[in-house]
Amino acid sequence: MRIGVLSERGERERRVALSPDGARRLGDSGHVIVVEKGAGENAGFRDDEYLHVGASVATRAEVIEAAGAVVGIDGPDEAALSEPEWSALGSDHLVVALHDPLGQPERATALAATGATTLSLELVPRTTRAQSMDVLSSMATVAGYEAVLLGASRIPKMIPMLMTAAGTVPPARFLVLGAGVAGLQAIASARRLGAVVEAYDIRPAAQEQIRSLGARAVELELDTADSEGAGGYAAEQTDEQNRRQLELLAPYVAEADVVITTAAVPGATSPELVTPSMIEAMRPGSVVVDLAAERGGNTRLTRPDAEVDHAGVLILGPTDLTSRAPTTASQMFSTNVVSLLRHLAPDGELALDLDDEIIAGTVLTLDGDVRHPAVRERLGLADPAGATSGAAPSPAESTVSTSIEGESP
Ligand code: NAD
Repeated sequence: MRIGVLSERGERERRVALSPDGARRLGDSGHVIVVEKGAGENAGFRDDEYLHVGASVATRAEVIEAAGAVVGIDGPDEAALSEPEWSALGSDHLVVALHDPLGQPERATALAATGATTLSLELVPRTTRAQSMDVLSSMATVAGYEAVLLGASRIPKMIPMLMTAAGTVPPARFLVLGAGVAGLQAIASARRLGAVVEAYDIRPAAQEQIRSLGARAVELELDTADSEGAGGYAAEQTDEQNRRQLELLAPYVAEADVVITTAAVPGATSPELVTPSMIEAMRPGSVVVDLAAERGGNTRLTRPDAEVDHAGVLILGPTDLTSRAPTTASQMFSTNVVSLLRHLAPDGELALDLDDEIIAGTVLTLDGDVRHPAVRERLGLADPAGATSGAAPSPAESTVSTSIEGESP
């Protein structure tokens, strides 16, 4: 395959979808790599590093025209597709990127209209087999780590316990709400800085993982029997469950110097985990870092990429955390993309096997149509015959294994 790598256009975006090492590995598998000039620069990869591993460098239009497969972090939206550089995109193309298919399903309609086959990296099934292709987990890992650094840098305290001639300084307290991939990485990172860490997740299965990282698992008197939905994800809670959860979490929030919220429910707006009155009970100078800012936030005060001061507490809703470690994030993203492309073209030629659960689950558009059932449903389209469910795997298929290396308790 001829694989084209595009530079990213997003204002805060610093990542690149394929690193020079990824280009080398795909080259070793018989693929030809063309990289847009300067594509890796913000992530710390110079054009000559790509040239050194046998890739070539070209303009954006040349990359799109020449490539059989175009890879990027953020796929083209409707506005981008109307630009002349994308006019060459057609049925001979494969586009592999994040397309936000559940958040912005209209993008899938625009992509389908080009005739290109598109794969949406958000849709890669969260199964053991597809773990090496799971960009959501990779990027959540980076975001969880960066959220801790951000919170740590904004509180008026040092983090670890200090025993000095000037007295004993107690450690800072971190509370992590939502212990999925990002939350577990946040716990491990805050522990490494020396913080006392407490964490809560609605899924009872997360408690063991929280403890294994040396944090205290907050246990609330809540009926969480139905809290785990398909694929090991959280299910949406009732209003009464949410109300009770807020009430029980309030004293933990009040004690924290940094609250990191990561709670998300696939396909739904993020639940409110911290109310304004809970924030008012925190000490002035404390910080809330809300990783759910893009999907409505875990506090109603969160504003994406803005700093909100509420009663002396700083509420941060960064949406660019992965771009704050662009080299690492790009290396991980690239490894995921290489795995997926190798899976799609095991012998160097594209073989789109729709009987394969990973491929079937990841295809967004095919033959001029939106194929993914969950996205079709959002668009109000009838379910086509032959499409697989493609949705998140059942808990039985999914291994809920989010092990993060870290301190033992
Ligand atoms: P996510 O980003 O969808 O959500 C983050 C966390 O928020 C989840 O742990 C969720 O339970 C939690 N949450 C939702 N509502 C909440 C509430 N009201 N209160 C407290 N917490 C709440 O999740 P994710 O990080 O993408 O991972 C979700 C699940 O998928 C996890 O169980 C993870 O272990 C699993 N997973 C499995 C694989 C695999 O097997 N390959 C890969 C990645 C993740």
